[in-house]
This record gives sequence, structure tokens and C-alpha cells, in this order.
Amino acid sequence: MKHLLEPDARALPDWLASHGLPRYRAAQIRRWVFAGRVRSFEEMSDLPKDLREKLAADFQLWTTRVALHTATDDGTEKLLLELADGQQIECVLLRDGPRRSICISTQVGCAMGCVFCASGLNGVARNLTAGEIVEQMLQLDRLLPVGERLSHIVVMGMGEPLANLDRLLIALGEASDPSGLGISPRRITISTVGLPEAINRLTELESRYNLAVSLHAPDDALRNELVKVSKNIPLADILRAADRYFEASGRRLTFEYVLLGGLNDHLDHARRLAELLRGRTALLNVIPYNPVAGLPYRTPSSSAQNRFLDVLRTAGINVFVRERKGDKINAACGQLRRSVEQAKQAASSESTATPGVVSIAPLA
Ligand code: SAH
Repeated sequence: MKHLLEPDARALPDWLASHGLPRYRAAQIRRWVFAGRVRSFEEMSDLPKDLREKLAADFQLWTTRVALHTATDDGTEKLLLELADGQQIECVLLRDGPRRSICISTQVGCAMGCVFCASGLNGVARNLTAGEIVEQMLQLDRLLPVGERLSHIVVMGMGEPLANLDRLLIALGEASDPSGLGISPRRITISTVGLPEAINRLTELESRYNLAVSLHAPDDALRNELVKVSKNIPLADILRAADRYFEASGRRLTFEYVLLGGLNDHLDHARRLAELLRGRTALLNVIPYNPVAGLPYRTPSSSAQNRFLDVLRTAGINVFVRERKGDKINAACGQLRRSVEQAKQAASSESTATPGVVSIAPLA
């Protein structure tokens, strides 16, 4: 069966034509999916019944199943989605004032080897299809009440977006298309570990998405310890590619810096980071480490965080600290999937084990 959400401008019109049906139905079906928020073909109430049945016979609307749905009282909701092949990915809805932002995944696992991150601990299993990326958007969209719309997308879930760039761009095309989700590229941010060739491709494609680059260290030596993939990628190359993207797109860059106690949070790191970023039209997003069970890293105390931030602010760097929304539901990428996997393992090895995930109340 074909996946209806797999972006393919010809699939529906061709299918309709092959059944002797008018092509205008394609736009009608698309409206039901993106604006009508239907969950089934059956709900597309102004389509003839036999068309709905034929669609259901040949197309799958959803390929994922919600394995777990968690929520916190700050309005953050997280879905653990099971894909057709049994793999699991995560995506998140965040509410902030009028904003309705979602954070989506691009791969099952990750190959970049950031030592502190839960997503990549077991490497990468596969790239997501464009349809699976779109499906996350629509699953999250359906958590909103009537009258509310998704306003922002951050591609900061599991995986390295630029390692699955072709499919990501196809999916983001659906997000920004007025007949899709209609979210302006200015409200869509792609976060990358920093792959210069792929950033250059974005520049050449005249992409207008916001780019966030994960630095995590002010020099190559420390970065090589924290981000394994960076061994062959000097910071200078990453910054050059990011600068080119800024010049071509006019989109202000964001740099991300996960603050790990005792590792990259010395005042000297802050000074050298300020030097590295000086003169750039950029935001620095400092992210206090969100602890991952079983990993030895720690979050710096708030006074250590403040001292680090003061150095940067005094040096004139535009810095903000990411609010830790959804901590209780393992909101850092890969954490929910990992805790569920660990619970499964514990349950199969010890029949009396309590799965680690029961502290999270699954919703309906
Ligand atoms: N692969 C992309 C997206 C990763 S998720 C990238 O590297 O940018 C977005 C950000 O969250 C990245 O900067 C990532 O390093 C960071 N991150 C991952 N695990 C984290 C954790 N446990 N605590 C805080 N930030 C984390």
C-alpha cells in the first residue's frame, strides 16, 4: 500500500485518473489531511463513499502507531511513535505563550556520536522517509484543539537532519506549503552537528530555513572528545559553511552549546567561545545538560551556569538559555525511547522488574 503522507505531487492525481475519477479530488483529499485533521478516510465526509473505500484499500494514511503519549503540566506533550518496521522515534509538542512548536526526528538513532546524547548511544538504524517525517508533524498537529495551529518547527529530535537532507527538505516542503501546514520557513529551524558539505548544499539550494549549529566546545581538541564525528571536521570549516549560509539566506545563525559540568563549562571555555563567535550575527543557545540515565555527565550548578553566561554577555555575545521544558517526560532527544527500551530489557531479563517508564503516565 502507498503512504498517503509520502509527498509525491503525482501519486494521487495519477491514482484518481487511473480510476476514472476527477483530479480535483486530490486537492480536496489534501485539505482533509492538512486542514481537516482527519484520522481516517472515512471522515472525509464530502467524498463519495466508494471513493473513500477505494482510497482506504490502496493507501495507508498512517504508518505509525502511538506507542506512548506523555504530557506535563507545562503543556509539553511527547509521542513515542512505532514505525511500520517496529522501530521507535520521538516527537514533541511544546506550548509557549501563543507558540505551538514541534520538535521532530529525522533518523532512527544517530551516527554522530555526541557522547552525552541518548539518541546516538546505539548508533543509527535508518533514515526516516519523508512521509514518516510529515507524519510526526500531523500526529502532533492532531493534539491541538480546534482553532489552534502549529506555528514553529524545530528539527532537533532524534538523528542528524543533514545526514537525511533530501528527505527532510521534501518533508519541510509540505510543512511550509500553503496547502500543507503553511508554516513559514522563517519559523522552521534545522539543528545540525555541523556537516559543512551539507550546509553548503543548503546554501546552494537557497534554503530559507533557520540554521542552528551544535558547537559544544570552543576548540577542536575538546570538541573531538564530545562529538565523535567531528574528528575529521574542523570547527573552522563548520563556521565557514555557517557564515556562507548566513550571507546567502540572511537568516540569523544560532549556535548551540550543551553545558556539561566540569567538561566544557570553565570560564576559559566561555572566553574562548566568545572569541570564536565575536563579530557574527548570531544567537548562542546555551543548554544546561539534561541528564541521561547511565551516562556520567552532570548539569552544572546554577551559579556555575551564571558565571559562564556572564563572561559571554560581558563579551557582547547574544546568549539565551534554553528553558528545560518537559524534563519529566524525558524531553531531550532519544531519552524516552531509551527508557522504554531499557524497561523492556529489564522486564524480559527479570520478571519482577518494574519498567522505568511507569513513572510517566501514558495518556489515552
Ligand atoms: N543532530 C542535531 C540535533 C540534535 S538535538 C544536532 O546535533 O544539532 C538538539 C540539541 O540538543 C543538540 O545541540 C544536541 O547536542 C543537544 N542535546 C542532545 N542531548 C542532550 C542532553 N541530554 N541535554 C542537553 N542537550 C542535549
